[in-house]
Amino acid sequence: MKLKALVFVFLCCGTVYGQTVKYYLSMPKPQNHYFHVEMVLEGFNEKSIDVSLPVWSPGSYLVREFSKNINLVTATDGSGKELQLKKTKKNTWSIAKGKSSEIRIAYDVYAFELSVRTSFLDLTHGFVSGSGVFMFVEDHLDISGDVVVVPYDGFSEVSTALPRKERNKPFVFSYSDYDHLVDCPIEIGNQLIFDFKASGVNHTVAIYGEGNFEIETLKRDMSKVIEEETKVFGQNPNKEYLFIIHNVVDGQGGLEHKNSTTLSVNRWTYSGNSYVKFLSLVAHEYFHLWNVKRIRPFELGPFDYNKENYTDLLWVMEGFTSYYDELLLLRAGYYSQSEFLAKMESSINYVEGSVGARVQPVAHASYDAWIKAYRPNENSSNTTMTYYTRGSILAAFLDVKIIRNSKGERGLDHFLQHMYEKFYVKAARGFTSSEFKQELEGFTGENLDSFYADYIDGTAIPTYSDLFEGMGVSVTDVTSTKPDFGATLRSSGGKAIISRIRTNSAAEDAGLSVNDEIIGCNGYRVNKSDIEGVMRSLRKGDELDLLISRDEILFSVSFKMTNYAKPRFLLNLTNEENKLRDYWLR
Ligand SMILES: [Zn+2]
Repeated sequence: MKLKALVFVFLCCGTVYGQTVKYYLSMPKPQNHYFHVEMVLEGFNEKSIDVSLPVWSPGSYLVREFSKNINLVTATDGSGKELQLKKTKKNTWSIAKGKSSEIRIAYDVYAFELSVRTSFLDLTHGFVSGSGVFMFVEDHLDISGDVVVVPYDGFSEVSTALPRKERNKPFVFSYSDYDHLVDCPIEIGNQLIFDFKASGVNHTVAIYGEGNFEIETLKRDMSKVIEEETKVFGQNPNKEYLFIIHNVVDGQGGLEHKNSTTLSVNRWTYSGNSYVKFLSLVAHEYFHLWNVKRIRPFELGPFDYNKENYTDLLWVMEGFTSYYDELLLLRAGYYSQSEFLAKMESSINYVEGSVGARVQPVAHASYDAWIKAYRPNENSSNTTMTYYTRGSILAAFLDVKIIRNSKGERGLDHFLQHMYEKFYVKAARGFTSSEFKQELEGFTGENLDSFYADYIDGTAIPTYSDLFEGMGVSVTDVTSTKPDFGATLRSSGGKAIISRIRTNSAAEDAGLSVNDEIIGCNGYRVNKSDIEGVMRSLRKGDELDLLISRDEILFSVSFKMTNYAKPRFLLNLTNEENKLRDYWLR
């Protein structure tokens, strides 16, 4: 009885009152790209404790082995005496702490990968993606504590969504649990900072790097996007929100958090079409504050940081978000109805025209993101389909279905509101895949077994003309059968090298392989554009001889052109007025 009670206390609370973990983050010599971390643990009674560094960063579904960047790990007790420390797993250190109530763990983190999901430090700025920098105490992810940032002498600003502990201590922050800590990236340097208010929320923008942006334009346009997004859900859960923007040459997109995001964009992105793409990225990451950070499958929070967290619902988390990152730009006035439809047409043709779309169902694409989407190879186009684009089309499918069934009274917005209210606000939990399906069926009033069998767990092409029937959108199937070589070439030092081969293509039938160099055609030397020109002029059945070099061994193959039918659809607005279409594309 006593034992049972004791176990209950530990299971239910996890944290014993008074346990804290305080991190000190310094960067004495930024040019060597090392952050120095000291982690002070107090109130732990165990004789030994394990500390680990995550192997992945939530929102980016790849095991990245962040512990590869950790060096010089030491542990001391409150009096400065060194404690015995042993590495027990690739990302875990075990410390024999004995009776000491305070332990100080110190280590260096090499940070030289500037992306939204990794960390970076040089003389111009520091960026901390917490999961690659802060270790956690095993079995104690719920502990709260402080983070003290000690910036390099030349740095004057620290931007993070972590709450400031006290007004007069600008670089001391607090966190409520480990998920909270690593969900708040930290930008340290001399970044440009400005604020604006939208949907009743204070937004701060911290920009690293020069660029062709104008602050007032950004405030106006980002506010419009935020206000449209908040209308989708009817409520905005944050009081404060932070955008960290990195203006670089090679922009890499964004990563979502509960009350902040990091965006990595080309520094000249702020004009013309690429500015609209920037706003779409803003819309995408901001939408995630609801969809995936709060409306989420069980597996996506709280997290297991030691291994992959598999879910088959990324088609909802990423796909729905991708649908809205364009739809909301329409609602905010950046696209016309026909421009939006043109975007959708190109998404549909991208998906249906991909060989991998007939091989990998979107639920599998989601589950296998860790080993496939994030680890592509030369054969990926034959075997995979992105849950982003296929998911965005399925979102449109469901939106239209709900609008039609409700005669223009409700849409996907209302389903998302329902999920937010039921699972996040009321139950404060994630959901299973079958719960998601059940809610969707309840909301649409339809049995969705065949929808799931065909499009979620299957790879069928939707009948788009049926889907848009009565929506004021015409669909024309313009699939045509054309001669197709089936190999993609790249040019390397003037050589024509095969980079991809389509399954069941003429190139595959001829015995060609990725990495083959095509040297000659019918007795003539050729380069990449020569061979592409020849292939364009061939008809089905035409034959020719190719001279190939594979691993520096020369041989000839005879090649026979075959036809390929690539699915393709045209979408157009019909001329007559349509109430449902005007509601859908409002
Ligand atoms: Zn996303």
